[in-house]
Amino acid sequence: MTQTIEIPIEGMDCADCALHVQKELASVPYVLSAEVLLGAEKAIIEVEHLPADLTLIRRAVERAGYRVPEARQEAITRLGTEFTDRVMRLFGMVFGAVLLIVVVGEWLGVSERLTESIPWYLGLGVVLTGGYPIFLDVFKAALRRKVTAHTLMTLGVLAAMAVGEWVTAAVVVFFMRVGDYAESFTAERARRALKELASLAPQTARVLRGGEEVTVPVEEVRVGETVIVRPGEKIPVDGEVLEGHATVDQATITGESMPVDVGPGARVFAATIPQLGSLRVRAIRIGRESTFGRVVQMVEEAEAHRAEIQSVADKFAAWYLPVVAAIAALTFFFSRDPLATTAVLVVACACSFALATPIAMMAAIGAGARRGLLIKGGKYLETLARADTLLIDKTGTLTLGKPRISEQWTVSRAQTDDELLRFAASAERYSEHPLAEAVRAAARERNLSLAEPEDFEALPGLGVRARVDGHIVEVGNRRALASGMSLPQADALEAQGKTLIFVRVDGELTGFLAAEDTLRPEIPAALERLRALGMRHIELLTGDNPRTTAALAARLGVDYRAEMLPEDKIAVVKRYQAEGRTVVMVGDGVNDAPALAQADVGIAMGAAGTDVALEAAHIALMREDWNLVPQVFAIARRTMKVVKFNLGFTAVYNVVGLTLAASGILPPILAAAAQSLPDLGILANSARLLRQE
Ligand code: ADP
Ligand code: MG
Repeated sequence: MTQTIEIPIEGMDCADCALHVQKELASVPYVLSAEVLLGAEKAIIEVEHLPADLTLIRRAVERAGYRVPEARQEAITRLGTEFTDRVMRLFGMVFGAVLLIVVVGEWLGVSERLTESIPWYLGLGVVLTGGYPIFLDVFKAALRRKVTAHTLMTLGVLAAMAVGEWVTAAVVVFFMRVGDYAESFTAERARRALKELASLAPQTARVLRGGEEVTVPVEEVRVGETVIVRPGEKIPVDGEVLEGHATVDQATITGESMPVDVGPGARVFAATIPQLGSLRVRAIRIGRESTFGRVVQMVEEAEAHRAEIQSVADKFAAWYLPVVAAIAALTFFFSRDPLATTAVLVVACACSFALATPIAMMAAIGAGARRGLLIKGGKYLETLARADTLLIDKTGTLTLGKPRISEQWTVSRAQTDDELLRFAASAERYSEHPLAEAVRAAARERNLSLAEPEDFEALPGLGVRARVDGHIVEVGNRRALASGMSLPQADALEAQGKTLIFVRVDGELTGFLAAEDTLRPEIPAALERLRALGMRHIELLTGDNPRTTAALAARLGVDYRAEMLPEDKIAVVKRYQAEGRTVVMVGDGVNDAPALAQADVGIAMGAAGTDVALEAAHIALMREDWNLVPQVFAIARRTMKVVKFNLGFTAVYNVVGLTLAASGILPPILAAAAQSLPDLGILANSARLLRQE
């Protein structure tokens, strides 16, 4: 049923801007109409259903260049939810009672006797008072030349009234409204997982201001301020630990209940909870900008990335209405039975076709979010379920991403080992690459103090370049810095599966470091499960050299391509896609974000830390655990099964209902009751997705 919401809008100051906002709002999928009031600074929006939140609407306002004040918007959403929850419970009870009375009454023939004894004006009065919101909707839709499911049912009501079946008409109206509530109840329930997630957001923060501790709403914390977190309290912001040690439960973000130890210098995330120990944290990101805030936002926006099967179902639902009308016409033509015709008009439940997919998707996405799986839309679950090709980035994705420098080799006599390492680590100072961290760690171990690099430049897939103490220092792989040189020591180390990091100072090769990275222990089993689930082709794509890669690929029994630049990875993805394969790419977002975006489904590992990964991927795994990959694949498969069952169930239900109605076996009263049931069936079936291990 349509609902009206009001939202405040700040900053509009001309009639044109109001029109502009109005246009943007009208482009939101579920908005039926929008009216922007310049003077009152608000918009009155008519929506198809109450959205779980106002993200899409807020975005539309922002696109037009204005703002919806945060606090008031949340208040409106919350009010809506509590109210519907209470109404739903009441309606559940009334529904059950009326259904019982109707069935028993019909069976005993009470309703016919009632109809005979009720004067027409009383019947008409009941029908009109009970049904006016629906009739109004139908009328408004008709003005927009739209036929809705209610249009047919309204025709049914008219038909029943025409033959003087007042009780039938009243009961049909009652169940139309019950059906509406069943529908919004179903949608509401499916959104619950998401709402529960959103409700985990921190509300207040203790901030250190002027040497004093003050408690403020989270939105009022400023970047750079110091917040104090006591054990058991939620960390209010993303930030860096300044003081204190604690074990932090990061389950809200990673889905992993095993707490992690943090101390000075560590990064912590909003909405996670330190146990045993207080922390002082420097705020880096706040509210919607924090990792948690963005996860919630992305899950909220998932509704916009609809599965293809949903558009098909939507189209079918639209096309289904004329078919039902035709069946009703035929029924009347052949049987001349107005009651059978009425039954046909009211038994069809077109809405269930439209609901079948999003309900399942929302359940799966909401449940995933709580487990550290951020799925950005039903579309990706749908695609993942039929994927056959898996491409995997190596460094940081397949390996632990915590390489250690195990050997060092210096060419030049003029440079000591420490000098070489100091140059390399200084150049790598601001690189996000796991190998850069290894170099920095090695320098830390030897207590080298780093220089501040100038003109830092990252060369994706190759290495970095920067000016250190006036020298041009280049750090990177063989392809970039030592191609064609004969280096037997290097060959030997590579054959052992080590990754070499070459260092060039002012254009001259001065040495190299060998990094050793460990394969994530859970990988062989995870790949096995993926194969068992039907992933036919698995291949490593890496910027590392062929010798290092071959050793690893052989161990895992997968194909590989080495010395791939980021653009080569994209090309490989495209080539497979051109062959008609559905490609999943798993990466860590370092140097492979474009390939993740190009893949049919890009999955980022350990996205809690890296921004690019969180943005570029279609599915982000919030903790570094390869078991999540087969898990999300299995979820996708299961979700599509539920969706197909939902659609199949609705189809069969409708066919049976229409047949019984057209043949006069199903009286209109029961047909009206039957119409509201499939929604609940869909809900029950989709709820299975919430309970998966
Ligand atoms: P992968 O595809 O295995 O994830 P990348 O594309 O991230 O690898 O990098 C490819 C290769 O480029 C690495 O194996 C490394 O040799 C080199 N490289 C890239 N960035 C750096 C860096 N910051 N420091 C040293 N080497 C780097
Ligand atoms: Mg990588």
